[in-house]
Amino acid sequence: MPRIKIKEALELQPTPNINVKGWVRAFRSNRFIALNDGSYIHSIQIVLEDEKIPEEIVRKISIGAALSVKGALVESLGKGQKVEVLAEEIEVLGEANPEEVQKTILQPKKHSLEKLREQAHLRFRTNLFGAVFRIRHAMAFAIHNYFNKNGFYYLHTPIITGSDAEGAGEMFKVTNLPLENIPFNEEGKVDYSKDFFGKETNLTVSGQLEAELGAMALGQVYTFGPTFRAENSNTSRHLAEFWMIEPEVAFADLNDDMALSEDFMKYLIRYALENCKDDLAFLMQRELNEDKQKPKAQRNEMNLIERLEFIVTNDFERISYTEAIELLQRSKPYKKNKFKFPVEWGVDLASEHERFLVEKQFKKPVIIYDYPKEIKAFYMRNNDDGKTVAAMDVLFPGIGEIIGGSQREERLDVLKEKIKDFNIEEEHVWWYLDTRKFGTAPHAGFGLGFERLIMFVTGMTNIRDVIPFPRTPKNAEF
Ligand code: ATP
Ligand code: MN
Repeated sequence: MPRIKIKEALELQPTPNINVKGWVRAFRSNRFIALNDGSYIHSIQIVLEDEKIPEEIVRKISIGAALSVKGALVESLGKGQKVEVLAEEIEVLGEANPEEVQKTILQPKKHSLEKLREQAHLRFRTNLFGAVFRIRHAMAFAIHNYFNKNGFYYLHTPIITGSDAEGAGEMFKVTNLPLENIPFNEEGKVDYSKDFFGKETNLTVSGQLEAELGAMALGQVYTFGPTFRAENSNTSRHLAEFWMIEPEVAFADLNDDMALSEDFMKYLIRYALENCKDDLAFLMQRELNEDKQKPKAQRNEMNLIERLEFIVTNDFERISYTEAIELLQRSKPYKKNKFKFPVEWGVDLASEHERFLVEKQFKKPVIIYDYPKEIKAFYMRNNDDGKTVAAMDVLFPGIGEIIGGSQREERLDVLKEKIKDFNIEEEHVWWYLDTRKFGTAPHAGFGLGFERLIMFVTGMTNIRDVIPFPRTPKNAEF
């Protein structure tokens, strides 16, 4: 009898012989087992009829144990499920010592998210993390689907990079030099010529520069890979290792880029609404329960599913950086001195400003474009005003920046100037400059933080709870 997944079993009509396997979530009255195999947010109920299963087997059944159950799928008399399994035969594949289980988050009671994080190796066994990681999978799949459907090629850009010009924050060094005996050159600097690659290398902070090279031949490409930033920012929205999606499109300008980002986000969220219904319903209910414990002002104005539907059905607001500054300067919190960080033209927007615009001013996603060139990267295209670049950030409610993108500077002479202004050595980016020599063309792209997307879709408020094993300052357990 082949094993079937619990999700499928729950959809079957009654049938005399089935085999399900999974882990015990609950065991009541030595009679009712809730068995879950990860295929579904719901568990299947296994019923042990009087003396059918030998006592020495029943004794081994406890929360956390892995079982194989054979029996009849019958209509359930109890509430909460249509069908259940009358066990004919149970094999205990792996026991779980109840005393030890007591000390873990497998014990079925409410555990804090912090506690669950400390046992990240076990938290997959909870309904909450089952739902989060099934949705994470669905979103990864949807991303590839979207790009494939729209004629983008998946390009694998390197994880170890020799370019130090990406300018997106601190990098992790990659080396196999002996740290206890580092070779130095005559100038007293580390002699990287003796290192594995014969030069200084780091973990990538973005695949964009390489993706541009691909786009300038394949037309439309995207990367989807791990990204590393050694910033010491211990926030609920930053990881040291996160996943980023970076489309890059030839013959596109900033307007095309903004349109792509909006269409892409709507597709992904629609995909979740259509394909992750049960997990989203669970997460929505969980959030509603949590909200009940909170003061009114801290509760979500819309529930999770309403928030997702809202994205799909409303246009994103588009405003320039200059307009954003003016709006902020006219805002109540600004006039009442409630903002911690300064609001003036030329200064980067802080998270509190972004969230004001999205959550209070417009109450929907906002795309801010045309930022001051000093606060953005060297590769962004200079606008004719001489002050701004064709950059854009997509801001989401509850999240802040979820996407950062731009039209790229395709004019060789302008790019060379910019490289000089940013103190980047031309010889380090000669290959990047080559694309501007041989058939340069307008092009644009953006980076979407995968975990920030998952936060939005699941309603989880800490980025550590949407990646299986988070890496943050002083934390790389598991
Ligand atoms: P932020 O201002 O939020 O730190 P950023 O401007 O440094 O982000 P970009 O370099 O524009 O980020 O990267 C593109 C996207 O990658 C961001 O919009 C965000 O969704 C995501 N991202 C950036 N840094 C992190 C991080 N440390 N952890 C998780 N996601 C991140
Ligand atoms: Mn950004």
